[in-house]
Amino acid sequence: MIEPGSTIGILGGGQLGRMLALAAASMGYRVHVLAPEAELPAGDVAAEVTRADYTDRAALDRFAASIDVATFEFENIDTAAIRHLATRVPVFPSADSLEVAQDRLAEKRFVEALGGRPAAYHPVDSRADLDVAIAALGLPAVLKTRRMGYDGKGQARLHSAGDADAAWAALGGQPAILEAWVDFSHEFSVLLARGQDGDIASWPVPHNSHEGGILATSRVPAPPEIMALVPDAVALARRVAEALDHVGVLTLEFFATPDGPRFNEMAPRVHNSGHWTIEGTRASQFENHIRAVCGLPLGSTALTAPEVLMRNLLGEDVHDWAKLLADGRAHLHLYGKSEVKPGRKMGHVTFL
Ligand code: AMP
Repeated sequence: MIEPGSTIGILGGGQLGRMLALAAASMGYRVHVLAPEAELPAGDVAAEVTRADYTDRAALDRFAASIDVATFEFENIDTAAIRHLATRVPVFPSADSLEVAQDRLAEKRFVEALGGRPAAYHPVDSRADLDVAIAALGLPAVLKTRRMGYDGKGQARLHSAGDADAAWAALGGQPAILEAWVDFSHEFSVLLARGQDGDIASWPVPHNSHEGGILATSRVPAPPEIMALVPDAVALARRVAEALDHVGVLTLEFFATPDGPRFNEMAPRVHNSGHWTIEGTRASQFENHIRAVCGLPLGSTALTAPEVLMRNLLGEDVHDWAKLLADGRAHLHLYGKSEVKPGRKMGHVTFL
């Protein structure tokens, strides 16, 4: 057990790291953030910050010497760096969880082997493969890079065969997969935390709405069309967590369809669709992630209110802060980012 007073290392310096650091601090831990960017939302609330590339072995060694346990808030870290760090200090979740989640093809195959059902897909490693994939799956479809995609980036939609050249060019010829378009009624996510003792706590399932591939809102409770699919989806998420011997928060995103939940993607970390748990449940995703990483028992995921709504503040939305502060039901979270860009996650607001 890593006791309060110890130092937790976090790889990655964005808003997820910031909220992890705040949860850790409120439980009496110190946080040391390592990330390469000049501006670090997590660094602003951490006891120590190292600005270094994740591949800088000397920096990782100094980082390891200063912490008692490490975790990550960012998925696109070379797993070799995580494996190196793990030779020096315990790291949760493990590099195995990260490796599966970094590659859309590996992730879909892994989840399928456990009984999950992703949208029909086809690997695409060349322009010629794309024609084969279109013939196999039909259109519409969406071409996604296997690696490094997020918030709808690294994706191109195809409506007709004439879109193939542009889609292939848009992804820069990287290894990709073509996914059949899913005619879904709703989107939802399963968030769970798994402790070092194998105990699993899952949160009530939020209904997520996306705009332009970016999460806009998460609402709890979810409507009946989602609730009917929750037992299957949660059972799958538990099997994934157990198969990976995952420690920490794990998120699986799903499409709700008339023939059941369709797996979309997973993240071996705290997730934007779980931000509402800060005020909306007794133990937030951030608190339970810290508890799991430190080998503590998990906290209750019970709701604190009958209805919870989280809305992302994207780009210029951040300027609504004064109006939101004046609303007694609103819990405002700003991430301290200086540059406002369209679609950039600047903060969020939760209404109970
Ligand atoms: P992703 O980054 O894969 O989560 O995709 C971002 C968003 O694009 C999803 O949350 C959906 O709203 C939409 N999307 C992605 N893949 C599909 C698909 N195969 N069918 C329909 N919508 C999709």
